[in-house]
Amino acid sequence: MKIEFSSLEEGISKFALNDVSLAFANALRRAMISEVTAFAIEDVKIYDNTSALFDEILTHRLGLIPLVTDPDSFVPRSRCSCNGAGCPQCTVMFTMSVEGPCVVMSGDLISQDAVVRPALDNIPIVKLEKNQKVVIEAQAYMDRGMEHAKWSPVTVCGYKNYPIIVHNEKCDGCGLCVEVCPKEILEVKGSAIGVKDGALESCSLCRLCEQACLNSGIGDEPAIHIGMDDRRFLFTVESAGALPTVGIIRQGLLFLKNQSDELHEALSEIRG
Ligand code: SF4
Ligand code: SF4
Ligand SMILES: [Zn+2]
Repeated sequence: MKIEFSSLEEGISKFALNDVSLAFANALRRAMISEVTAFAIEDVKIYDNTSALFDEILTHRLGLIPLVTDPDSFVPRSRCSCNGAGCPQCTVMFTMSVEGPCVVMSGDLISQDAVVRPALDNIPIVKLEKNQKVVIEAQAYMDRGMEHAKWSPVTVCGYKNYPIIVHNEKCDGCGLCVEVCPKEILEVKGSAIGVKDGALESCSLCRLCEQACLNSGIGDEPAIHIGMDDRRFLFTVESAGALPTVGIIRQGLLFLKNQSDELHEALSEIRG
């Protein structure tokens, strides 16, 4: 397995995962969505809520705020030695006390931890009119997207097969396929079709170019052919804000490795 990054940023990363099966690529995608742990608000004590929102809706909105997570400094509550009671190893407390008129923002949440805090300060929670108030105390802990989407660290996590674009000797460079390509990656090079330099990975595999070529009356087979490499995948991972994308990818891969080690151990025991 080999990973080649075409972009690696905190918020969004794109990479090619090479020399793996489709099953492995899909397992990694699922691991990043549902097995990586991140903080989210789960328990909320409402002392005062005279806003237009019901307590349940207010709580739901608080739960969906992405919280910056340092997975090395905490343990998921389900695996904590406090047995789910909540302790500094697994739980971070937040308080919020706001009086209108204003819009209550995620930045109004005050964390007891220096690291675990809202990923963005400008997420609107509720609008307060004059004399309306929201006073709450909330507990956040780490869990997996498998339990609820609010713990999933990604907003986008998907892949496509690596495109392979070839043409045969029937291509006369008429350019009809260039006109229909929605990604604008094709160009006529001399008397035949070609792909613009560095543009291949943008191909969406839509095959409109093949159809355009057929419509030109070339015969039963288009001169351009769109194929897919079934051992190479192009991933896009976008973070919701809890973790940098590199942390999400690392944790996803680590999860798969641990699962594989466990399976290997279990099989060794069966074999005796
Ligand atoms: S439409 Fe067909 S023949 Fe025309 S440039 Fe494209 S591949 Fe070549
Ligand atoms: S498959 Fe679609 S995106 Fe790819 S080259 Fe053909 S028309 Fe363009
Ligand atoms: Zn604990």
